[in-house]
Amino acid sequence: MKLNRNYDNLQQSYLFSTVARKAREYSQAHPDADIIKLSIGDVTLPLAPVVVEAMKRAADEMGKKETFRGYGPEQGYDFLKEAIAGYYKREDGVDLALDEIFISDGAKSDLGNILDLFDADNTVLIPDPVYPVYVDTNIMAGRRIVMLDSNMDNGFAPMPDEGQDADLIYLCSPNNPTGAVYTRGQLEAWVAYARRKGALILFDAAYECFVSDESLPRSIFEIEGARECAVEFCSFSKIAGFTGTRCGYTVVPKTLLGGKLNAMWLRRQTTKFNGVPYLVQRGAAAVFTEEGMSQIRANIDYYRENARIIGEGLAAAGIRFVGGKDSPYLWMECPNGMDSWDFFDFLLERANVVGTPGAGFGKNGARYFRLTAFGDRGRTIEAVERIKKALG
Ligand SMILES: *Cc1c(COP(=O)(O)O)cnc(C)c1O
Repeated sequence: MKLNRNYDNLQQSYLFSTVARKAREYSQAHPDADIIKLSIGDVTLPLAPVVVEAMKRAADEMGKKETFRGYGPEQGYDFLKEAIAGYYKREDGVDLALDEIFISDGAKSDLGNILDLFDADNTVLIPDPVYPVYVDTNIMAGRRIVMLDSNMDNGFAPMPDEGQDADLIYLCSPNNPTGAVYTRGQLEAWVAYARRKGALILFDAAYECFVSDESLPRSIFEIEGARECAVEFCSFSKIAGFTGTRCGYTVVPKTLLGGKLNAMWLRRQTTKFNGVPYLVQRGAAAVFTEEGMSQIRANIDYYRENARIIGEGLAAAGIRFVGGKDSPYLWMECPNGMDSWDFFDFLLERANVVGTPGAGFGKNGARYFRLTAFGDRGRTIEAVERIKKALG
């Protein structure tokens, strides 16, 4: 038996464990300190009532002989694929065939699993700072990775470099961790570059629901030519609070490589995956009903208002940042030349507020700090007041 030695090349991630340990130690040393977490990368509002009702009805069906369901289609039930196709049509003006949509237990799994379809001998282009899953899944497979600098100069929306070869390209917009969003013109340039290079764009649209500016694209398939060079990953985690319920979907156009990639993904999923629970798919489909959308919008607006409040506070304190508009993340420059861990300690001690040091997302994050809008409104307001005071 020989091990996959590529795992030895993975860097140990101490980011979230170190953040948690430092907050815990501070708390033990200062039992009266009331610590507020603006570091939370998970949603906090509960599932919408229509989703819960749909899952209860589905559970009842599963308990009756006449309506019980066993194995479903590995790639998902048509009722959910139809609901997703309807959402793309309404929101983005994008037409998708049902057999281009694959339901899964979340975007993270699919982002990792899609790599089954590609040879190890491919050059992978990944922005830095980044959601660590893209880097680690490619290290596990031993692929060449080229990091693309994402920084204040390019507005944390890096653009292609003609001289750079690439086979697989990761784009995440709205971005985690920076909250930056690509414009239509920028994505057009990426699509043109990918087509010239014969590359495939892996587009992570997990935060598309936070885009409120109508001029900004929410799906890569709003861009002409993207059906020839892109796969899109999306999730119910952020739009509808499914982080613990688990459901996502991946769009693989049949126009990619004459249908070859779609056929390979279908084969991969039917071989290695047995589908998402029926009741979860019923809950997910309820998100896209009229009532579901109105309940979900109220939740998204709550987080958006939190983001606006944090952004307003940072601006008032004279801090440079990106994100917070069309995104639940704010990516701020650490003040007074502090690096991201110095600023973490400063904020914890002076304001009793916890955020996430940018260094954990790549070298370009070393002087930046991520704040999130997923918290409670009152606590968010309190945290912003304390940050302003600490910086004042
Ligand atoms: C949260 C998130 C996802 C969604 O992951 P799930 O597995 O569907 O919960 C995907 N990409 C990014 C960048 C994320 O932050």
